[in-house]
Amino acid sequence: MKAVALIAHDSCKDALVEWCLGHREQLSRYKLWATGTTGSVVAKKSGLTINKVLSGPLGGDLQIGSKIVSGEIDILIFFWDPLASQPHDPDIKALLRVAALKNIPVATNRATADFLIASPLMDGK
Ligand code: PGA
Repeated sequence: MKAVALIAHDSCKDALVEWCLGHREQLSRYKLWATGTTGSVVAKKSGLTINKVLSGPLGGDLQIGSKIVSGEIDILIFFWDPLASQPHDPDIKALLRVAALKNIPVATNRATADFLIASPLMDGK
């Protein structure tokens, strides 16, 4: 079973919820991880079961990064806000670095997330 991590900055949370609702059935077949607030909001609005780590600014991005390094997360959906600076910017950079290092698929916007979720590789090996 694929494991998918979901993260959205505050201004992008509605977009991620909407995206998750649009792909709810497919997402329900994967093990889902999320940073704290993202996980709470998506779980509440979609009914999906989500494993949560800490909130992003409190170290959650690093926890997701750690799971990527240990091979527990296969795909990262990360809707980050291109118009706001974040106090945990170094953590975000570390997360994206390990995602590149481990060569996992990363979607940082809805268009890419749509391509990713539609890939036959999602349910392949
Ligand atoms: P949050 O963290 O889901 O706890 O809001 C996301 C982030 O800011 O990285």
